[in-house]
Amino acid sequence: MLEILRLIVQEVSAARDLQGALNVIVGRVKSAMTVDACSVFLADKAAREYVLMATDGLNPEFIGGTRLGEGEGLVSMVAQREEPLNLEDAPAHPRYRFFPGTQASHFHAFLGVPIIHHREVMGVLVVRQEARRRFSDNEEDFLVTIAAQLAGAIAHAEKNGDIDRLITHQGCEGQALDGLAGAPGVAVGTVMVVYPSADLNAVPDREVDDADEEVGVFKAAIARTKADIRRFADQLNGELREEDQALFEAYSLLLSSESIVGKAIERIRAGSWASGALRETINERARVFDEMEDPYLRERASDVRDLGRRILTHLQSGEKQAPPYHENTILVGEEISATMLAEVPRERLAGVVSVRGSSLSHVAILANALGIPAVVGVDDLPVSRLDWREMVVDGYRGRVYISPTAAVKSEYQRLAREEAELMAGLEELRDLPAKTKDDVRIPLYANTGLVSDVNSSLNSGAEGIGLYRTEFPFMVRDRFPGEEEQRKIYREILEGFAPKPVVLRTLDVGGDKSLPYFPIKEDNPFLGWRGIRVTLDHPEIFLIQLRAMLKASSGLSNLQILFPMISNVAELDEARGLFSRAYDELLDEGVTLTRPKIGVMVEVPSLIYLIDRIAAKVDFLSIGTNDLTQYLLAVDRNNANVAALYDALHPSVLQAISQIVESAHSYHKPVGVCGEMASDPAAVIALLGMGVDSLSMSVASLPRIKWIIRNFSYGCAQTILRQVMAMDDAAAVRRHLDGLLEEAGMGGLVRPGR
Ligand code: PEP
Ligand code: MG
Repeated sequence: MLEILRLIVQEVSAARDLQGALNVIVGRVKSAMTVDACSVFLADKAAREYVLMATDGLNPEFIGGTRLGEGEGLVSMVAQREEPLNLEDAPAHPRYRFFPGTQASHFHAFLGVPIIHHREVMGVLVVRQEARRRFSDNEEDFLVTIAAQLAGAIAHAEKNGDIDRLITHQGCEGQALDGLAGAPGVAVGTVMVVYPSADLNAVPDREVDDADEEVGVFKAAIARTKADIRRFADQLNGELREEDQALFEAYSLLLSSESIVGKAIERIRAGSWASGALRETINERARVFDEMEDPYLRERASDVRDLGRRILTHLQSGEKQAPPYHENTILVGEEISATMLAEVPRERLAGVVSVRGSSLSHVAILANALGIPAVVGVDDLPVSRLDWREMVVDGYRGRVYISPTAAVKSEYQRLAREEAELMAGLEELRDLPAKTKDDVRIPLYANTGLVSDVNSSLNSGAEGIGLYRTEFPFMVRDRFPGEEEQRKIYREILEGFAPKPVVLRTLDVGGDKSLPYFPIKEDNPFLGWRGIRVTLDHPEIFLIQLRAMLKASSGLSNLQILFPMISNVAELDEARGLFSRAYDELLDEGVTLTRPKIGVMVEVPSLIYLIDRIAAKVDFLSIGTNDLTQYLLAVDRNNANVAALYDALHPSVLQAISQIVESAHSYHKPVGVCGEMASDPAAVIALLGMGVDSLSMSVASLPRIKWIIRNFSYGCAQTILRQVMAMDDAAAVRRHLDGLLEEAGMGGLVRPGR
């Protein structure tokens, strides 16, 4: 059974649409269970009915036509009770309903299981048999397992509007999809789908005007792939047994076959671009092998997919280098990397939307840094069908509208205009100090990891760099950057900002930040080898970085060094020891240096209770609320499934920060906040009340946060803090603080519009 299940799941995931998936299910289940009929009924929520959507065994003419109202028939009874119904003789049941013509009356045995996703009944899966019999426990378990697998696909299709289209045969214009707020702001623009190279399943649908030209492109890619295969075969000639050499012959045959080349060309002639035609053809062919009984032949499916990737690589290498970016480009992808984002000219990039990620993943942090509205974690986004469609991005609510209706579009255009006016108004604050109404100064610093941000950070009115994430320059290289290479990068930032302070954080890799040339594979990466744990285990890497930072600061006195992920005193002692070694070495080498301030990130909860011991050994503390929140609440900061539980306004997080600040102050050590919480207008009111000494945030957030500082008093923020600290949950705290911003006339900082 497990093998059959695996096959069904594989086929369902490969199906291009819901109807295809349902047809696969009913056919496969019918033959696997050797029953006489298998059918799927889906919930039409608007009509409060269950509609027959696929069947193998009942009269197919009734697909879409047979509808059972709530409380009507056995199918709706399964849905209502939310549990399987196993009957030896269905027609004898009082709830049985007879549908003439469907042929259901031929059957006696009935087993129906609900299809449930996230506690909601999406439909019912039914098998029937002519003979009177009770289905076994094993059969029931099998059907329940299939229904659970199907539930995700149906929920996905429902979000995409596929179910509505199937049930009502209508289009999906104007459909809204929810994800997570990644970066604030709203945008209206045209989608450009980006996808990683050589990933067949990520290839979007596109149309071509000139089919002949596209066929030529495809044939050229096939010819190049054939040449590769010939070269591989020649290279290994003599080293392989004859039967293994046959593998290359099989590859060459596939590359001339009608089933791949001919079929793909047929699809191109029907209007698809070469990569899309290749994706469809390869998947179709691989599925045929997947279904084979013989394990050897089944393995050939991976050869077909491998071949597909090779052809795709050649197709992509021939693609035009710079795609014509629309003037309001909404970059959409399964996962968007820093380089994909960087490729779009800044003035053309209007919004960013990704299937994966959360508000703290790197795409969101980068979008924030650039001031581009972003929605992430939209797990139901039909990426392959979005290219060149119009889209509205609401980065406050975490919502996108695909092909918005005229009304939605014009509303968002108005909101975008209002927002631009609001921001232009805030620009005027640029040269004014960040000072509360009762004269408390809270310096505002910028978070960055890009050298190119120096100018925008300077222009934003930032009083320094509060967090420079050094892992970014490490990530975009193909090896560890050397001492001189790093020195130049750090020098540019230190010089650009001098005499304003610049906090360089030592390498913080691990967790979700991996270096392509230094992969760390762990079961629980956020609880594993990350941050200072890695650099202390690799003193050679750490010392090079510390030396580069110190050398870069020669002749300047604005460098501060920050250690990430410290969880105990010994780690801090070791890090300080290595720092002193690098410092003394450089003095011995004759480099002129001012001893930099040393700080520690407070982002692991164990440090909350060690502030007394830590404070004595450092010059400053910087609270990393992104990690502190994830570790305190046991909520993965990148997991969209639990994103609703992740909120830095949780009363425990507020308590923790307040305790850290109080404790650090009792040792006369300044404490700032450098996590995304410092960019959150509502949260800043609470942080102000706690008496944090500085805030460090994305440049794009600086004007709005300055506005808050200048429009609240420290005294008033303390009162508000006392009120919110007494509340039970983050949602209540957020409602209260958002309400205060609305009252102060600045609701536009937490929702679209003015
Ligand atoms: C944090 O954890 O709050 C932080 C600023 O560091 P990062 O987001 O880079 O982990
Ligand atoms: Mg962190």
